[in-house]
Amino acid sequence: MRILVTGGAGFIGSHLCERLVGEGHDVICLDNFFTGNKRNIEPLLDNHRFELIRHDIVEPILLEVDQIYNLACPASPIHYQYNPVKTVKTSVMGSINMLGLAKRVRARILQASTSEIYGDPKIHPQTEDYWGNVNPIGVRSCYDEGKRVAETLMMDYHRQNGVDVRIIRIFNTYGPRMAENDGRVVSNFVLQALKGEDITVYGKGKQTRSFCYVSDLVDGMIRMMNCPGFIGPVNLGNPAETTILEFAERIIALTGSKSKIVFKPLPADDPKQRQPNIDLAKTKLDWEPRVAVEDGLKQTIDYFASIINGNCCK
Ligand code: NAD
Ligand code: UDP
Repeated sequence: MRILVTGGAGFIGSHLCERLVGEGHDVICLDNFFTGNKRNIEPLLDNHRFELIRHDIVEPILLEVDQIYNLACPASPIHYQYNPVKTVKTSVMGSINMLGLAKRVRARILQASTSEIYGDPKIHPQTEDYWGNVNPIGVRSCYDEGKRVAETLMMDYHRQNGVDVRIIRIFNTYGPRMAENDGRVVSNFVLQALKGEDITVYGKGKQTRSFCYVSDLVDGMIRMMNCPGFIGPVNLGNPAETTILEFAERIIALTGSKSKIVFKPLPADDPKQRQPNIDLAKTKLDWEPRVAVEDGLKQTIDYFASIINGNCCK
């Protein structure tokens, strides 16, 4: 198949491109390099099945493809809040452009949605039928509401135009190729621990997250894209829930670091708890995460250590 991956030079997108090329598909990676990095896709650049296009999905584009994975969107709070209007445009106008393309060339399109559409959830763990608790005017809304509209657009293009859509709601995912500067908790804690710097826990660290290793996520994405007759939305994540304070302690232990934990103010609207219910993914996709958090963290620590030592990256 010929497959378009928007945001393909980013963290998750680059792993997806690699897997799809490995499965024998022709992959077009489209990216504006806002948070993506050529280094992420460097091993693929010589592969005749791989093509790279520098393009912004806010502008229309016509490509002949069979499937579209729409991942283009900054994902870390500091990056999506850097230019919030652009973040909304990427989710809304970008999704309209990609859905228009899917409609025109009759491609199937998968939207990378997020657990953020549940906001600061009042239902725990989160199931797909929960409508969420999102602040529409807060600093996270450009991302949360943008992603919610993108889901709406997917469903409306499906109902109105018969576009073949898939929606996945990704929970916190981590692994090699996360950007060093994106401020997310895994990259921050691992880099701080490796450099012997203070580990910055926001608030009291009692808030929870559930971390999924990137290879598991990519496996779920591909299953969902190729699942007949099921459009979602479906949660994809690892139900192994941890408080952020426990997570900091775990990373200190795994790295053997002498770093100390320090407490910093909690950012606005930071969700207090987050854990996916993945029963639907288990039933419909026969999918569940396989990589234990310790194992995934070791791979991630090795990756960041290689960045620090200047001998990155494959
Ligand atoms: P990332 O920032 O590494 O990747 C996003 C990619 O999209 C980057 O390569 C960036 O340059 C590109 N991009 C951004 N705006 C664009 C635009 N207007 N046009 C073209 N390209 C653009 O983030 P990631 O963690 O790999 O996330 C990928 C997708 O998965 C995002 O849509 C994100 O919202 C979603 N997601 C990620 C997580 C997670 O934990 N990583 C959780 C939920 C949802
Ligand atoms: N966090 C933290 N220290 C950091 C970075 C993040 O305590 O240096 C916390 C943050 O407040 C949040 C959690 O870790 O509660 C996950 O943050 P991240 O930005 O990775 O993802 P999100 O909040 O979007 O789930």
